[in-house]
Amino acid sequence: MAGKDSTIRTELFIDGEVRPPAGKEYYQLHNPARPDEFVGEAASATADDIDVACKAAHAAFPAWAALSYAERADYLTKIARHLTADEAELNSRIKLFTREHGKILKESTIEMTRLGDRFTLCAAMAERLAVDDELKGPPFDTIITRQPRGVAALIVPWNWPLSILGAKLPQALVAGNTCVVKPSQNSAMAPTMTIRKIAEVLPAGVLNVVTGSASVIGDPLLSHPLVRKINFTGSIPVGKHVMRVAADKLTPVTLELGGNDAGIFLEDAVLDDAAFMRMYLAAFMTSGQICMALKRLYVHRSRYDELCTGLIAAASRQVIGDPLLPETSMGPLNNKSQHAVVTGMLSQAREQGADVQEYGQVPDEGLYKAGYFQKPALVFDPDPALDIVKEEQFGPALPIIPFDTEEEAISLANDSQYGLCSSVWTQDRESAVRLARQLEAGYTYLNGHGPLAQDNRGPFGGFKASGIGRNLGFEGILEFQEYHSISAPDGWLF
Ligand code: NAP
Ligand code: MG
Repeated sequence: MAGKDSTIRTELFIDGEVRPPAGKEYYQLHNPARPDEFVGEAASATADDIDVACKAAHAAFPAWAALSYAERADYLTKIARHLTADEAELNSRIKLFTREHGKILKESTIEMTRLGDRFTLCAAMAERLAVDDELKGPPFDTIITRQPRGVAALIVPWNWPLSILGAKLPQALVAGNTCVVKPSQNSAMAPTMTIRKIAEVLPAGVLNVVTGSASVIGDPLLSHPLVRKINFTGSIPVGKHVMRVAADKLTPVTLELGGNDAGIFLEDAVLDDAAFMRMYLAAFMTSGQICMALKRLYVHRSRYDELCTGLIAAASRQVIGDPLLPETSMGPLNNKSQHAVVTGMLSQAREQGADVQEYGQVPDEGLYKAGYFQKPALVFDPDPALDIVKEEQFGPALPIIPFDTEEEAISLANDSQYGLCSSVWTQDRESAVRLARQLEAGYTYLNGHGPLAQDNRGPFGGFKASGIGRNLGFEGILEFQEYHSISAPDGWLF
């Protein structure tokens, strides 16, 4: 599809060069707040492009892997600076991101900033990475070293593409791998421009970006013979597919999958304006489209009414509308099918007799009806068998359920196929940590939940169907390396 002169169009970036896709095809992106509004177009790569990208990454690998950790960390530090160096360019990328994605400007800004911060944090681990473990004999002297794997395929979803990329890309690079990144079709342009900016700082071929339909390029990337590691973030069904395809070549996978995070609010927890706002944002930031959002809230029965009243007040103050306007606090959902999933779960809950209420101010009813909007919804004490409780809603809806004992709360929280994150809300440190240790989740936040409560230095990932392996932290870097033991008879090496 040919673009007009003024059309924003993103190409592929392979081997240090901007490249049109082999088939010269592009697809359109529209504004989810105004689905009729064309925002721009992104390259539709083909299997041939994937092959070229993987070969470029493979060719760049030996020289990149041969650098010291400190040298690679220097690149990461330069990237962090480069990402925000040109303020006008950064602002236009942030605006484009909001227009193609639907998240409010403030969140687009947080995401861009967080990406750079994650490069900086990762660079700081270089010294620790450079140290091999040593086992002194008898009976043997052994060096336990680590080596990069080779070409890493990094696949990110649309919801927080750059922040999520920051949990795997700097880690893959500092570990010594070269990369092919595939953003989602549903948010491709601003992420591709951003990845290209990163790639421009690096030697040619170290970082390549491909966009297009997952049905065309997904399997060619996952099954490419030069790919030595797959790091995927997305839904459980696609995660299972990734693992099945990877199994054929025994390619190692890291999978960050869906969540249905439970929060447990104890009898003694603080409820003030700040706590209500933290709780509200934990569930409703980015219209609830966050893997680690609060998705089920279990509340001690003695505090149930008070908590519901406060959350209703917080939700009622929100302004739902055009995400480009500074007064808007919640934009639309990103796409039509996600809108259908969330509204479908709310309809099911209503049909089955649940008390579902929607809140917030809508300054432009016409826009609200035309775009993929959904007001923040609270579902009061629903049947636990409803999808809104059991499944991942990935939208602006929160079920609130009373409990009587801590044991009951733990058992309700753990009664799930998911195990991404969780939270405990209490003033008592001892019970907070005691309960957290019993939760089947890769992360437990105390008196907060979600991206704003996240310590970016720690590992992040899920139990059970929420994933395999970890991103972020030192552990997230190790996922991109192979252990290599070198040993000799006692007294020979040390
Ligand atoms: P998705 O449909 O699974 O897509 C994720 C990524 O995989 C996208 O880039 C997608 O491309 C790509 N993909 C789809 N089919 C593929 C295939 N056959 N081969 C290779 N790649 C393929 O997930 P989503 O709807 O974008 O994201 C929402 C889900 O992600 C939620 O479940 C959420 O909880 C989860 N998530 C998890 C985390 C975490 O850290 N645990 C973080 C964020 C989101 P296209 O989009 O172009 O089809
Ligand atoms: Mg749910």
